[in-house]
Order: sequence, then C-alpha cells, then structure tokens
Amino acid sequence: MTSVKQRKKIKKNDNNKNEEDTIGPKIRHPSGDVYPDIIFLSEKNDEAKLSSAARLYQDIIKYSISKEYTNELQEQNERKAFKITAIVKWIKENNRDYRNFYTDSDSKIPKKVRDDGIIKRIHRYIDNLVKWDLISKFEQIDTNAHNGQKTFMYKYTDYAYILAWMFEYNNSNNNSAKKQIAKNEIFNLLQGQFKKFNSYRMDFLARIYDKFYEHSLFDHLITLVILSIKNQKFPNIAEYFSFTQSIILNKSLDLYFEALKDFQTDVRRKIIEEEKYVFESTMWISQPPKIWHEVCSENKNNHDKIVLYGKCQNKDCSVDGPVIYDYYAYRKAIASSPDPYSRYSVMKCQECKIENAFHVYSSMNNFGI
Ligand SMILES: [Zn+2]
Repeated sequence: MTSVKQRKKIKKNDNNKNEEDTIGPKIRHPSGDVYPDIIFLSEKNDEAKLSSAARLYQDIIKYSISKEYTNELQEQNERKAFKITAIVKWIKENNRDYRNFYTDSDSKIPKKVRDDGIIKRIHRYIDNLVKWDLISKFEQIDTNAHNGQKTFMYKYTDYAYILAWMFEYNNSNNNSAKKQIAKNEIFNLLQGQFKKFNSYRMDFLARIYDKFYEHSLFDHLITLVILSIKNQKFPNIAEYFSFTQSIILNKSLDLYFEALKDFQTDVRRKIIEEEKYVFESTMWISQPPKIWHEVCSENKNNHDKIVLYGKCQNKDCSVDGPVIYDYYAYRKAIASSPDPYSRYSVMKCQECKIENAFHVYSSMNNFGI
C-alpha cells in the first residue's frame, strides 16, 4: 500500500519535470539542450569514472546487441522494433544503478511506483536518442489490446549498433579477441550502410574504408569517433563520423587517391562527377553571383572541374570572383587548409600577388554577404 504521505510526494513529482525528482536511483542529467557528448560524460570529481547518466544512455544503446534483444526480435518475427516495457525490464536487470535500486530490500517505495519512475525516465532518455538519430520512434496499433489502441514502438538505427560495438571495443582492452570481434562488427555495419545507397560515391567511401582497414587506420577511426563524441557538440550522430572521416582522409590523402584508382576509368569519372556536384551544391543554394553561375555553366561537362568562389583577404585588394579547381588539386587544397572540415582553402591572389591571401569557399554564406 502506498501511504498518504508517499502519494503526496509522488503527485509532486508528477508535476515536476526535473530529472532529480524522478523516482529511481539518483542520476544527474544536465538540463537544457543536450548533445551526444553526454553518452561519455564522466563524474565531476572523477574523470575516469562514467557518470550515472552516461551509464544509462550507454546501457539503453547496449540493449541493441544483447542476447535478450536478439531473442525479443525472434519472437516478433524480426520486426526489429521494441516496446518500452522490453527495455525497462532489461535496464532493471543490467543497469548498475537500477539493479541496486530494485534489489534494495530496505526501500519502502512500492514496485509499481518504481516502475512508473523508470518508464518516465527512459522515455526522456529515448527521446534524446531519437533526436540524435540513434533510435527511431513510430506508432503502431497494439495487437494485444484489441481496441485499436496505439503504442509507441522503437527501433535502433545502424548508428546505435555501431556505437554499442564501440563500447564493447572500448571496454575490451585486455581481450584482443573480443576487441577484434567488436572492430569487425563496426566495420561490417559501416560497409553495409555505404552499400545500401547503391551510389558511386558511397561505393567509393566503402573502398576508402577498406583502405583504412588494410592500413590499420580503422582502430584510429574508432578512437577518434569516441573522442569527438566526448568533445564536440553536433546535432546528430552521423556528423561525428563524417567529421572523423574527414580528419583521417586529410591526413592520408594518398589512400584517398589510391582508392579512387581501384575503380575503372568510367566509374572513377562518375565518382568524381558526384563529388563535383556535392561541392558545388552548397554554392547553388547560397545565392551565388551571376558571374559564378556563368562559369559553372561553362564547366558543366567538365566532370573534374569544380567551380567555387573566392575573395582576397588583403584589405587593399579585396578582389573576388569564381575559382575553377581541378578535382585532385581541390582535394589536396582542402586537405592542407587551416580548417579542412569547412572546405575552405587558400591560394595566391592573382591580383595583388600575395601568397595565401585568396580564400576560397564552397558557399557564399562564408563571405558574410
Ligand atoms: Zn589580392
């Protein structure tokens, strides 16, 4: 029985969305806008210790590769979706803080109240994971209810599986066999993702990842992704992978060109052509000046010529205009750029002849017009 005093307390908690008041173990979750860096957040007073909020996020993601989830999927004919109740059950048994909370025999909080608390909290955590593209959420008619009642169903995205294996990789430092398994799972999941697109450019990316693997850069990639999640604030998980990928590619440009060479001439041409369109697409949507449009049109059929825009940073010169880059030269230029991720490159100004004064961008937005 819930005592009157407890009921009052529960009611107060219902009206208060503050995480600290959730019925359950004490888990501090930062307030305000949150980013995936929470997944690796450490304790305030102990850098080496994962915070309880991070542990709960990691455990929700880890459920994706648990044997219980695999069994759950088999029961559901491989729909690959789960209900909140399935994950709540797993968290109660596998999350350290919740396991302690449920086995605490001294606790006077009734089980029903504890269950409501955990469901509420997990809903909130899952909503953030949905925001970061690690879980997708959809409504489905509940077949058990027989009254057309709808329930929310959840599915892990490929990135959740990848991340779950990254935790495995990270936690198996003394077990090289376990580490290797995790590494191969991550590699195969990423390759599967690229191949799903059936596009020339993604086939190329898959080939680059083969090269990463051959040249032992794949471990480096995993470590860098984890490091960037810890230190960067991107709105979704895919950004961390493309960020990391561009860091490695810019350091190992040879691999990039090596991978490109592995394709036959006609396919290589198509890959470069897709790259050209990607680079020029941000120009098209940023209100380019007429002169850029004209030069771009003239080079429409030159698959390896990329038309961008630049401006001299020398205040006495300030000349601006379209820039025609050869594909390979552009790849090299952005690799040696002060900020490769923004695709900004520098060259000698043809007007005032000052080295590195002419800055080239793939979007007009960078000029502050
Ligand atoms: Zn100049």
